[in-house]
Amino acid sequence: MDSFEINNSMEEITNYVIDSSKKADEKADPPVKPEVVLNDDSTIDIIFNDERKLSEFLPDKLKIKDTPDFNKPILYKVISEDGEIQNLEVRINHEWLKKGGSAQVAIFAHEIGHALAIEEEIKRNKELKELFEKHPSFDVIDNNVKAYMTYCFLKRASGKLDNEIQAWNYGKIVATLLGINDTQYEDIMRPQIEGMYYAVYLPTYDFIKDLYRGDITSLNKDITYPLYDSSQQKEILVTAEELLSAFNKLDDDKYKRNIKETGNFKS
Ligand SMILES: [Zn+2]
Repeated sequence: MDSFEINNSMEEITNYVIDSSKKADEKADPPVKPEVVLNDDSTIDIIFNDERKLSEFLPDKLKIKDTPDFNKPILYKVISEDGEIQNLEVRINHEWLKKGGSAQVAIFAHEIGHALAIEEEIKRNKELKELFEKHPSFDVIDNNVKAYMTYCFLKRASGKLDNEIQAWNYGKIVATLLGINDTQYEDIMRPQIEGMYYAVYLPTYDFIKDLYRGDITSLNKDITYPLYDSSQQKEILVTAEELLSAFNKLDDDKYKRNIKETGNFKS
């Protein structure tokens, strides 16, 4: 997939951001908002003060597409069975983006972050599919079927959160490019990421509870479990007790409040 060089994109964007901020410091001019333009083919581009364009930094396959009445950026993707990217668009209403305040721009940047993280997402999904399909033989898992299923569902939760965190990190760099500083970006995105944590772990918890017929304390204590640690931004292995305590901390009200905020952005 030579035409889709993500890591290149991130490195280029980062260098450009550092460069531009150095130049801005030297001139001490107030930053000028980049210009949002609509092309004839209904793609959107963003032009910076030095005339460079956002599209120059993004992989060729990725398009930003004007979608009237679409006041919520969304990543539209078509990926073939064998994991080839066939279509990748961030869809957004041009007028909305043009008028957009920092919250709109941050969410837009986050969706671009998802696009830039797509190859890693495809890789994770493939590993997950293999985990479900190529399970150990049943004589090996035998009495541990529940533990195996618990493990699979926890891996799926980690994968989803990994995708989000990566989009959040890439999106943060893109947001800087668009004039949103780190503090603004974090204020806007933190409740959304927190909302995702609940949105991912509550159904996982419910599933595992059902698996153990409501008595989750009978969880196998001899093994460790994968759990996503948001502060370390990675999956860690925890004991059954630690997993139970993490589940106990999921509180419904917090989840409902956050899911409302999460409604502003999709996956
Ligand atoms: Zn997201």
